[in-house]
Amino acid sequence: MNSIDNDSLVEIRQSVRRLCSQFPSDYWQKLDRERAYPTSFVDALTRDGFLSVLIPEKFGGSGLGLVAAAAILEEIHRSGCNGGACHAQMYTMGTVLKHGTPEQKERYLPQIASGALRLQAFGVTEPSSGTDTTRIRTFARKEGDKYIINGQKIWISRAEHSDLMVLLVRTTSREELKKPSDGISVLLIDMRDAIGNGLTIRPIRTMLNHATTELFFDNLEVPVDCLIGEEGKGFKYILDGMNAERILIASECIGDGRFFIDRAAAYASERLVFGRPIGQNQGVQFPIARAYVQLSAAAEMVNKAAAMFEAGLPCGSEANMAKMLASEASWYAADMCVQTHGGFGFAEEYDIERKFRETRLYQVAPISTNLILSHVATHVLGLPKSF
Ligand SMILES: Cc1cc2nc3c(=O)[nH]c(=O)nc-3n(C[C@H](O)[C@H](O)[C@H](O)COP(=O)(O)OP(=O)(O)OC[C@H]3O[C@@H](n4cnc5c(N)ncnc54)[C@H](O)[C@@H]3O)c2cc1C
Repeated sequence: MNSIDNDSLVEIRQSVRRLCSQFPSDYWQKLDRERAYPTSFVDALTRDGFLSVLIPEKFGGSGLGLVAAAAILEEIHRSGCNGGACHAQMYTMGTVLKHGTPEQKERYLPQIASGALRLQAFGVTEPSSGTDTTRIRTFARKEGDKYIINGQKIWISRAEHSDLMVLLVRTTSREELKKPSDGISVLLIDMRDAIGNGLTIRPIRTMLNHATTELFFDNLEVPVDCLIGEEGKGFKYILDGMNAERILIASECIGDGRFFIDRAAAYASERLVFGRPIGQNQGVQFPIARAYVQLSAAAEMVNKAAAMFEAGLPCGSEANMAKMLASEASWYAADMCVQTHGGFGFAEEYDIERKFRETRLYQVAPISTNLILSHVATHVLGLPKSF
């Protein structure tokens, strides 16, 4: 349990803002045009310890906890930067921390904390299963002291910029078991050995710069000691980690929303049309105010979910609700900001169209809004299950 005090949180936010000010608009615009990875930005965050706040001190991190991690990502996004290139370095290691053997923790966590090893690829989604994770087909067959992996993953972000990957596979087929979520296992793959030896990575160009890829496994051999936790119990392990991911993505949305509101309020105050600032018209003012109201409510839910996570309380519903509210609030703010800027909202140099594209992702990934509504309907409200 960690609960960071307010003064330290203010200090962290200021430090992140200082760091981000060294990576201005033209840095992000160039990367966006070239779909290139923000290496120097990620290096700076790593050097200043911002990506290791969830790793306990005994393994070389600062152990500051999820509230601090959420504040870091919020400030990155509020500054106009994008944490999507490295946010997973913060939380993907949670599976090793929570379910790894003492030997696995010693071997990996200190190096992840220092940035010597990057663990920021998380391989779950497959083309044929989509959101229905228990239908994944990527299969790891045990042979002696090895697993032999065959299958395919899609939308696996940062795979080309990661040394390790947490990979979800089937070790027993769904048909052989009563419970669909049994028979799924988590493997920690060393991609440096795997690429070219059974693992092929193919980048996918998307509407935003997110370094996402498709992965092909063709008889990839990995040692059995890369199994995390118990074989066949992996589905439960990744559900744990997903709460942290959803809360942190929600904080990025809060940061995006604040970026859009800051920009819209500033522009509406200075842009003169019909001899007065456009923000003097209530038709322009009210959408900005509405975006602020919606974002403030979403931020409260994010804070609640983060506090519950840190206290070790079950927070699946709160993490989901936080992610849904924050992604919708940031999207409303994005649309409002484009409208407030008129034609300039579409100009690359204003960054608004880039952030607009970036924040749209979060209603689909890491989990889409319908699936969150389905969780709330069936798990919270007890409505009949539809699948
Ligand atoms: C840029 C990007 C980065 C990503 N990074 C990663 C990553 O690093 N690792 C990873 O594993 N995955 C990653 N993903 C995948 C992402 O998590 C999925 O795209 C997302 O969970 C939705 O799954 P899907 O695309 O298969 O949609 P589908 O499951 O095919 O669903 C399509 C639509 O139908 C809706 N739908 C489906 N079933 C139902 C139902 N029963 N009731 C109501 N609505 C339903 C969904 O809500 C969705 O809107 C990434 C995706 C993108 C676009």
